[in-house]
Amino acid sequence: MNIHEYQAKTILKKYGCNVLEGVMIDDVSQAKKAGEKLGGPIWVVKAQIHAGGRGKAGGVKLAKSLDEVEALSKEILGKTLVTHQTGPEGKEVRKLYIEDGCDIAKEYYVAVLVDRATDQITMMASSEGGVDIEDVAENTPELIHSIQVNPVVGLAAFQARELAFKMGMTGKIVHKAVKSLMSLYAAFVATDASSAEINPLVETKQGEVLTLDAKMSFDSNALYRHPEIMELRDLSEEEESEIEASKHDLAFIKLEGNIGCLVNGAGLAMSTMDIIKICGGEPANFLDVGGGATKEKVTEAFKIILKDPNVKGILVNIFGGIMKCDIIAEGVIAATKDLGLEVPLVVRLAGTNVELGQKLLQESGLNIIAAKNLSDAAEKIVKSVKEL
Ligand code: GDP
Ligand code: MN
Repeated sequence: MNIHEYQAKTILKKYGCNVLEGVMIDDVSQAKKAGEKLGGPIWVVKAQIHAGGRGKAGGVKLAKSLDEVEALSKEILGKTLVTHQTGPEGKEVRKLYIEDGCDIAKEYYVAVLVDRATDQITMMASSEGGVDIEDVAENTPELIHSIQVNPVVGLAAFQARELAFKMGMTGKIVHKAVKSLMSLYAAFVATDASSAEINPLVETKQGEVLTLDAKMSFDSNALYRHPEIMELRDLSEEEESEIEASKHDLAFIKLEGNIGCLVNGAGLAMSTMDIIKICGGEPANFLDVGGGATKEKVTEAFKIILKDPNVKGILVNIFGGIMKCDIIAEGVIAATKDLGLEVPLVVRLAGTNVELGQKLLQESGLNIIAAKNLSDAAEKIVKSVKEL
């Protein structure tokens, strides 16, 4: 689950990171009041969307008067920002963060991630922070330094110092950066975050270290431990179909392609997506209906796929173990009764109750393309979608 910058800053502040004062607003009428409360003489008006790259897209602007705070708020609120992280359709700005301005001397980059390959936490840092970090990663990756932190031991001060030195810091600033890094790590662990990115972490002309931007993402499997973080969820930032799926406890992620996939088991779902791509197609979603799904759950899952206007064909790939093939067939039939089926549907069933499942589908009158195995299924759906 992702949260907004202003929310992440509240969390990071609690754990000891230095952040500037700010006020979140969602209406232009609140802009001047927010500016007055902060006092000025410089403010920064920042679009709050769940995507980075706002600065370059005109979503982060400096104001030098209260009138300018208001004018910029009017300009940015309601605007659709297209950044390198939003996709071409962009994201509508529904909230702004009006923040105190500061004098930046230098911008650094810091990030914390769960590293599944080593079962540890990776902390990354670079002297080249700011809006072009993607270029740094691409062209001069040697300028991005990383350390592994054993989660049992935690981040040691010497490791944080090592990162500060690698970022080229010297003198008093090192101590302040170490405090920021230690606080960031503490916040990351305590909240069960899956990633946290501070870009930029800045050194001001007055010699302070500030967390100027903050992005945090949380492990949704751990959210039950953090009701206070759950409350930060902003549904307007999330994909409607994904919200619908989460209501039915389905593991669903919308993707860019046009082949809808209904699969049981995360591993099978991944290999289904892989094989679609190998055959030259593009999956429209990742969907794992899970092991013990009911007919109702399968129906809801299939409806989510049917409702997606991008879906030009559907591949149902079920390996019945705990899941029974007839339950899947019943769900597919129930969903199409409600919503109709206007795109090609390829079904590959194997395992428990496969004969019954196939019989139900055959007798349903639905126009189903049967498949012998997974590669046959993938070839058939990709071919059908291309012929449309
Ligand atoms: P992003 O583009 O979505 O990553 O948004 P950021 O919060 O990182 O803001 C983009 C850039 O705006 C930063 O890298 C800074 O250079 C600049 N910026 C943000 N806050 C301030 C500020 O208080 N003063 C000044 N001078 N620049 C700022
Ligand atoms: Mn940033």
